[in-house]
Amino acid sequence: MQIYNADLHIHSPYSIAVSQNMNLETIYNTAMKKGLNILSTGDITQPAWRKYLKDNLDFRDGMYFYKDLSVIIGTELEDIESIHHVILLPDFSAAEKLQEMLNPHVKNITGRWAGRPHVNKNPAEIVEIIDDVGGICGPAHAFTPFKSVFRQGRYKTLAEAYGSAEKKIAFLELGLSADTNLADRMESLKNITFLSNSDAHSEGAQSLGREFNRMELENPSFDEIKKACFRRKNRRVTLNVGLEPRLGKYFIMFCRKCRRRIINTIKNNEETQDTPLLQSGLAPSKIDANFIHYHFKKIKHQNDFLKLCSNGDIKCKACESDIKKKQKLNNKSKKVAIPKLKLGVSERVNEIATWSSEPKHPDHRPPYLDIIPLVEIVRKICKVKNPRAKSVTKMYENLIKNYGTEYDILIDLPISKIQNNEVAQIISAFRDSKIKYIPGGGGTFGEILLNEI
Ligand SMILES: [Zn+2]
Ligand SMILES: [Zn+2]
Repeated sequence: MQIYNADLHIHSPYSIAVSQNMNLETIYNTAMKKGLNILSTGDITQPAWRKYLKDNLDFRDGMYFYKDLSVIIGTELEDIESIHHVILLPDFSAAEKLQEMLNPHVKNITGRWAGRPHVNKNPAEIVEIIDDVGGICGPAHAFTPFKSVFRQGRYKTLAEAYGSAEKKIAFLELGLSADTNLADRMESLKNITFLSNSDAHSEGAQSLGREFNRMELENPSFDEIKKACFRRKNRRVTLNVGLEPRLGKYFIMFCRKCRRRIINTIKNNEETQDTPLLQSGLAPSKIDANFIHYHFKKIKHQNDFLKLCSNGDIKCKACESDIKKKQKLNNKSKKVAIPKLKLGVSERVNEIATWSSEPKHPDHRPPYLDIIPLVEIVRKICKVKNPRAKSVTKMYENLIKNYGTEYDILIDLPISKIQNNEVAQIISAFRDSKIKYIPGGGGTFGEILLNEI
């Protein structure tokens, strides 16, 4: 058997916010630089994208290739409950069959959201449809505050969401703001295989493979990936690789409107009187352009606060004061709804977890390795904002030329072999989990703090 690096969830130019330049050649070149061997097509129910792929992929030994990159037919679907599902299919005829079955239940198959159509079916029905056409599926970015199975106010277990169709779910996609340590705090997930995919959805091809799965397979085919997901015949995921969850866009809670992130900390868990939270006050200690800070004196107060947030009872103090100021200025007193705070992945997992802090990994669970895209490291070193700046591209290309693929540099190469000191120092800190972060949330990615390495 061989080891393959697979990213099984990406999007095409037919999805919103994806560059029109994203074609097989760009995808291929990026995949080779990264070290990816297997990629999903994404968006396969979009007719024009499907035709383009059909015309340009080679079919060899039952597998699709672009040059030597294995390509798996796949897409993402949104169900009637706005839950997203990652879909993988054996071939184009399964994709065409799926399209026919979906047609009566979708409105937007060629529109702006065609890349990831909305289907008027519930989660269990989606699983059955995919099973009928010979494909496999699982919940996408399972913990994110939007469009996910475990989002605030939704399900707490897969059984609740899928009923008896649960046994046909092949995997659960962790999403950029979660990892194995968070997900394995839920006992109900102990039997399911976790996938870490990029969900690349962006202007440049750089975000391809920012998360991926290392798999042990006989060959890079759909059948082998299916076996690995169900852990049959020694096929398996050997490593999940992805962003440290704090770097993801949805790790901590945020305001739905102004998108400020909420930092809540325990100042000193001093045992004063057992005062209920509401008496201890709900005023944030600080509000700035990006964050609202809350300090609590006791863990109990913090827990009460999170419970109130979960019930939708905490309003954004920053938005509230903006609204009041505006009303005063315009001399209006009409009642305006004040936006509420929404839980991030970390708070939502805390709420539905079986175990309060430490995960319990089942024996089959592979390690999870934190990475950050090399281009982000380079961007930090070059001290520029734009990841496509000339200086960044030049340094990135040089590193790839000197040391092999991006994954070689980030994961496999001995640190002593990397001659660029700054790069070596940051990668070494990553490998030893010594990086400090500003956590992401509300749609803003987290950041690494370089001066604290
Ligand atoms: Zn999605
Ligand atoms: Zn706000």
